Amino acid sequence: MKKLLEIAKDYAKVKNYVYARFGGVGGLGGIYPGYTVQNEMTASGLRTVWGLPSVYFYLAIFDALGDIRCQWAHTRTKILQLIGRNDNFSEDDRHYLRFLLKVNNAFEAVLNQKTVQLPAGIQKQYEILAGQTDTERLHRYLRRQVRKHHAKLHTDCVDMFSVSERAYRYGEHGIYLAIKEKRRRIFVPLTDGNRYTCQLSVKLYPQEQRLEIIVPLYMSAKRYEDYVNQIGIAAGMSVMLTTDSGHKYGEKLGVYQAEYSRWIWEQNKSYRCNRENNPGRRKYTAHKRRLEERLHGYINRELNRFLTEEKPGVVCLVRLPKTGTGGGKTNRAAAMWQRGYIRRRLEWKCRERSIEIVEVLGNRISRECSCCGGIGKGKKGTFYCSTCGIVLDAKTNTAANVRRRVVQGKIIQGRS
Ligand SMILES: [Zn+2]
Repeated sequence: MKKLLEIAKDYAKVKNYVYARFGGVGGLGGIYPGYTVQNEMTASGLRTVWGLPSVYFYLAIFDALGDIRCQWAHTRTKILQLIGRNDNFSEDDRHYLRFLLKVNNAFEAVLNQKTVQLPAGIQKQYEILAGQTDTERLHRYLRRQVRKHHAKLHTDCVDMFSVSERAYRYGEHGIYLAIKEKRRRIFVPLTDGNRYTCQLSVKLYPQEQRLEIIVPLYMSAKRYEDYVNQIGIAAGMSVMLTTDSGHKYGEKLGVYQAEYSRWIWEQNKSYRCNRENNPGRRKYTAHKRRLEERLHGYINRELNRFLTEEKPGVVCLVRLPKTGTGGGKTNRAAAMWQRGYIRRRLEWKCRERSIEIVEVLGNRISRECSCCGGIGKGKKGTFYCSTCGIVLDAKTNTAANVRRRVVQGKIIQGRS
């Protein structure tokens, strides 16, 4: 118990350090997606000073970061409500304030009394909104409200900590937990035979000399500490996924899909001509299944390759439109169905790895220029901007727009 209490105490120490160092307005720039914080904490050397194993140290940082983000979300919601109710604001004032609350970079700049500098496209939007208001007055208001409503985080809870999968193993009707001594684990007998492969929380009851293991709802979830990138993707019929940096995954999807659709179409044609006696129906089903399996195997391999190479912490994509059933050509229908399959597999794989999926609306997204925000047009897989003249791969442009919408906070709340 003493060894475990030591870990809980240090775990709280790390969390309180992260709260104090990054929980305020000065930390806002580093908490999304969080590797700045992680790097700074590594560089601080505190881990060796406190002698906490890295499996606990980084988990405590992630834990604290999650709390900080949550805290900011509460603060923003609170202020949004206040703005709506405040009669001293004109509609332009409210527009401007809502923009600041939505766009993280702008929010951060105002709170830290810096000049607002945003990517070219939204900078224009910002300047238009700013031109219609007394920005200094509104900035003061925002800073005042944040000071008033953004509570300081601190934990006094020194009897609880989280354990990543790497820090424990099961055996002899109990669990072995990593402790502060190198390469040593302590054994705790368990009352049940349940075995999990995920991050667990340990709650200590020192008086009663016992502990409780708390298991999160998504038991399959693993957290990959180096999966921190925010990746925008565009899906396609011929190339499965294109990222905002132009990487392509599933480039043969179109070819395989066409083969599969053509085969089904031919089979259906001959089936319709020979409806009376169809001896080959069972053979047909077996062959169809084989083709499907091959296609799905390919899709899954390419999705895995996407995740291991891009290491996303957040995957940003366009919400799928509701598709009507019935009608349409077979090959169109089959393509639609594959799209649903790809999406389901991607969601599953992301959940398994604790990767967040964020959706944006897809209206006009392929016509927007990811460079200047102007309007352009796509032609044979290439995007031409009529405002700034840039020429880009069309899917890369779309994926970059997806990511940009997420950065601007144009996120659909609630999952489809
Ligand atoms: Zn442009």
